Amino acid sequence: MPQTSQCLSFSCREIVDGSVEKCPKCGTKMRTPKMVRRLGWFLLLVGLFLVALMGTITWNMAPSLLRPYAPGSNFTGTAEQAHMILRLFAIVIIFGVGTMINGIWQIATGQRNRWITIATLGLAVVLFVVAWTTNRGLGG
Ligand SMILES: [Zn+2]
Repeated sequence: MPQTSQCLSFSCREIVDGSVEKCPKCGTKMRTPKMVRRLGWFLLLVGLFLVALMGTITWNMAPSLLRPYAPGSNFTGTAEQAHMILRLFAIVIIFGVGTMINGIWQIATGQRNRWITIATLGLAVVLFVVAWTTNRGLGG
């Protein structure tokens, strides 16, 4: 996997081989493999945090949410609302996993993967829409 650095200037976007701090064309700072790796660790930690947090919440709430009318259930909404909440949790977890994959890729290669980044951004949009509709569905 060849290591490249990319210029951070939007008008330039020059890509050169190796780890180069400054763009040879315009003098702007470049995104080096080291920076990409550091960002990768950040993404990995954020992803891990999301998955661990939402996994724990889902694990604790799923029994009540899956059987909202059962005795002892502390969830007072309807079954439909319960499914909306579970769907939201699931998408947050998928988003967290996608963020982790993105981070692991960047740590391993020192490069950004355009498709993983686009997929993660797409998931973020889906997450936003689902969170919004869930909020509306719950009357928030
Ligand atoms: Zn440049």
